[in-house]
Amino acid sequence: MLSGNAVSPGIAVGPVYVYRPFYPQVEEGLCPPEGVEAELARLDEVKAAAAGELAGLVDRLSAEDPDKAKIFIAHQDLLNDVAMDGEIRAGVREKHWRGNWAIWQVYENFIAMLAQVPDPLIQERVADLKDIRLRLLRLWQGEKERNLSVLDRPVVVAAHDLLPSDTATLDRSKVLAILTEVGGATSHSAIIARSYGIPAVLAIPNLLGQVDDGMEIAVDALTGLAVPRPDEQCRAEYLQRRRLYLEEAEVTRAYLDAQPLTADGVRVDIGLNIASADAAELDGADHVDYIGLFRTEFLYMGRTELPSEEEQFEVYRRVLTAMGDRPTTLRTLDIGGDKTSECLPLPKEENPFLGNRALRLCLSKPELFRIQLRAALRASVYGNLWLMLPMVGGLEELRRAKALIAEVKAELEGEGKPVSPDFKTGIMIEVPSIALVAAQAAREVDFASIGSNDLCQYLTATDRGNPAVAGYYQSFHPALFRIIGMAVSAFQQAGKPISICGELGGDTLAAPVLVGLGMRKLSMGLSGVAAVKRTLSALTILEAETLAREVCACPCAGDAEGVMRAWAGKKKQQDER
Ligand code: PEP
Ligand code: MG
Repeated sequence: MLSGNAVSPGIAVGPVYVYRPFYPQVEEGLCPPEGVEAELARLDEVKAAAAGELAGLVDRLSAEDPDKAKIFIAHQDLLNDVAMDGEIRAGVREKHWRGNWAIWQVYENFIAMLAQVPDPLIQERVADLKDIRLRLLRLWQGEKERNLSVLDRPVVVAAHDLLPSDTATLDRSKVLAILTEVGGATSHSAIIARSYGIPAVLAIPNLLGQVDDGMEIAVDALTGLAVPRPDEQCRAEYLQRRRLYLEEAEVTRAYLDAQPLTADGVRVDIGLNIASADAAELDGADHVDYIGLFRTEFLYMGRTELPSEEEQFEVYRRVLTAMGDRPTTLRTLDIGGDKTSECLPLPKEENPFLGNRALRLCLSKPELFRIQLRAALRASVYGNLWLMLPMVGGLEELRRAKALIAEVKAELEGEGKPVSPDFKTGIMIEVPSIALVAAQAAREVDFASIGSNDLCQYLTATDRGNPAVAGYYQSFHPALFRIIGMAVSAFQQAGKPISICGELGGDTLAAPVLVGLGMRKLSMGLSGVAAVKRTLSALTILEAETLAREVCACPCAGDAEGVMRAWAGKKKQQDER
């Protein structure tokens, strides 16, 4: 029996897919003259194997996902490019390069040449070339394809870790569950798994030493347990639990389109957290009052070239248009910490969560920031834009960011490009120092949103992704609720809106406490919307305030959790009567 941290609920039984990302190992190498023919023959084999893989992908995806299929059709053409093929073979024949070194070198030359052309279409070709090179080198090393974006059957993914870029691109229709050796409940992989509704158990010690590809596994992501090779009885038991879980989820789902009202008729606006403008994500917006968090950094992931102003503009415009008058909170780039991007290589830092992350990074790279701001402000005329700055620690950096936003606005207007006069500028409250001067901050912004994931991390001094200290990352710490309560009061007094978009907002145990602290806007991943509306419908404001007072008076997280669970248990009993 394996045991870990259940971070996204659900139950699944299926075959394991061990995900180990491939890292090419290529060194400059020469082959002896008598080895040249064998090297060329090996190149032919590898190329034929790559062509076979691509044909299989195109075949499968043509019906399922024609857009993805087109990418691989383009790869087929590039693989057969006569010029590159000729140069690779010449490298082996004339310079006696080893085949894998010839592949590396020749692709590298073409990539370097194309990388100088600023045209976005050419930049996409650069990404394609890197992808084909990786395929060829992997086959040269005799390794199987490991790619979460294209899976041929439903699987339980097992990995040491999943980067946000892995989860952002995974083929969500085929992933039954996710298991990893590291990662915390508010790591970005957990957040994405939750928002896709994929059961996930993270921080399972020595997971990869205990499972193999294709082995069946039963996963209970409610309790955090997983059983490799379940016997018939265990299998039947997990499937029965799965049926019960899905039945209960069906009852909750009925609340998806309910008005978000407490039992005594007070409205608590419900927002949606999204990471892309894909139809699958935007469809969720039908059930909510606003988008409380658009994590725009996911646009920068799973790619090797930066998204251009035009590309970003199109994405933001799509979201703003879909939302119409309802606010779209677009968070500016939050790279750093556990979120990295191939197109934005950053120097390694000892403590990345405390380092040059989010707004700090944007202020240190104003050219990068300006591109995003231009795209966002241009899109502002298509909807109701709320521009939100992440990881603000103090008013100085807020002012610098606002000055840059004003400059970009003036620049666009000077170019005759319209900007909405009504767009709003706000901050995330996720660093304790800004929470403690929330009253002063409220005078300088239009709104705020509590980033409880980071606020908890910085308040408790606990890396949110490190399983070794997961026990110290206490989302129900009374100190966290108290500091949130202070920020809510400060913004209420200033008459400015305040929301929460960290995971606490979509947690059915925490939501009543937040409402009791005065919060009237909760934003969350789609999977939490129905459950939170259901919880609110059984709650009066007086009850919520009493609960919040009790929780804040607790000396420690365990006590606070006890109070919250007891209260939820009482409500459940009332519900069943
Ligand atoms: C947060 O910190 O609560 C938040 C919403 O931002 P992220 O999880 O993306 O850091
Ligand atoms: Mg954050």
